[in-house]
Amino acid sequence: MSESGMWQSVLGEAEVSLSRGNYVTWFKKTTLLGYTPEEAVIGVPNVFIKQQMERRYSDYIADLLEKNGTRPKNVRFEIYTAPGAKKAETTRDTSVPREPQETKDTSSKKQRSGRKTSSSGVSHAYRLGLNSKYTFDNFIVGSSNELAYAACQSIAATPGQKYNPLFLYGGVGIGKTHLIQAVGNEIVKINPSAHIVYISSEQFVQEFLDAIRFKKNTDFAGYYRSADVLIVDDIQFIAGKEKTQEEFFHTFNALHQANKQIIISSDRPPRDIPTLEERLRSRFTWGMAIDMQTPDFETRCAIVQTKASQQSLELEPDVVELLANAFRSNIRELEGALNQLIVYCETHGLTPNTEVAESILSSADKRPRHLTARQVVDVTARYFSVDVQDLMSPKRDKEIVVPRQIAMHLLRSELKLSFPKIARECGRKDHTTAMHSVEKIQKALVLDPSIRQQVTELKGLLYA
Ligand code: ADP
Ligand code: MG
Repeated sequence: MSESGMWQSVLGEAEVSLSRGNYVTWFKKTTLLGYTPEEAVIGVPNVFIKQQMERRYSDYIADLLEKNGTRPKNVRFEIYTAPGAKKAETTRDTSVPREPQETKDTSSKKQRSGRKTSSSGVSHAYRLGLNSKYTFDNFIVGSSNELAYAACQSIAATPGQKYNPLFLYGGVGIGKTHLIQAVGNEIVKINPSAHIVYISSEQFVQEFLDAIRFKKNTDFAGYYRSADVLIVDDIQFIAGKEKTQEEFFHTFNALHQANKQIIISSDRPPRDIPTLEERLRSRFTWGMAIDMQTPDFETRCAIVQTKASQQSLELEPDVVELLANAFRSNIRELEGALNQLIVYCETHGLTPNTEVAESILSSADKRPRHLTARQVVDVTARYFSVDVQDLMSPKRDKEIVVPRQIAMHLLRSELKLSFPKIARECGRKDHTTAMHSVEKIQKALVLDPSIRQQVTELKGLLYA
């Protein structure tokens, strides 16, 4: 029998004997790469599937192969992408340890600090707005997002040449921000001097209004028009803001004419953004508009696996499936539930299993709990993947400042601590920092949907 014929027959049997979820998650994307009496080599799409297959299915596969006429002594799994296939799953698969985030951050900071500063004295480093945690490497590709992923990769390789503008749209929490940030991060990696501006349209509106108020219109216009790549997230918030739309129109034209790349995201297609000027609407569809769908079950499983193993946790497939089934549309919520599970299991010394996962999912909003300040700080640090020591230190890195401010806000809103007490809990001497932080986050809750989301999720975690 040919390799592919034999493997088809193995898969056929696996499909009938395993649960649908198990089959789809672990077997569907496998191939038989070759076999000898010594060894059968099975190609799998990524390292997570590889690990699970090694643990759970080696013997099972050996049995199925035997039924089909061969009994190799050993079954080995290898990460494999079919030639011509869109990039499989994630390149984090390369089981080579990646550069730690820290190093990346400092190097990009070095690059940024070399940048010119705008005449208002605001450095571009501050406004660059890219978060190094969003990369192509840790983005899981499935049928729902492969087109968007491919377009973004192509733009990162040759910005300004194809798909200009790129307009990505789709529901909340499905990876739009992740992907468009990944483009920015990738371009900076290839060309450290590229001037990339990432901004949410809410910030754009706010900055524009400030510019008018402080009579700095020209700074504002110059800043955005000097970008090599302009990434505007959640453009729908520009709806109804006529003056800002006018300004954005000119920015768009200037950049587009100069062949600079423009990337826009939205929660809906251009035609559905109310009170969007016609001339902007038509420009948004000049390049390529891509509808991103909610990731399918298989992709959601892979996302859970990836995120768990980023936290050095191996989850049983049953637990993965349970989570992937519970959150079908919003990956941010899926991630929130996973974090909740991890924190819960850690604090109670449990190994994650379906029972714990189920009880967390069902009781998420029922159980009132006594919270301590320490828990608030710990959970916040963990949520943002920063060290508690860093959070409590005087460090001013952006990656730490925001989590610290959010922790302070939560200490205030959830525990009603006084400002001096909040300051102490976060390693500060001076209570004015705490006051400013709490105020800042309160404002951000109105203005910045991502902060709002983070705070909501954190509360979910705290009361899990
Ligand atoms: P959106 O901008 O569409 O609302 P985000 O890009 O903020 O969504 O995604 C929400 C969260 O889910 C982020 O933490 C992101 O990293 C994660 N996420 C979404 N899709 C994927 C994916 N395909 N692979 C890995 N992580 C994802
Ligand atoms: Mg977003």
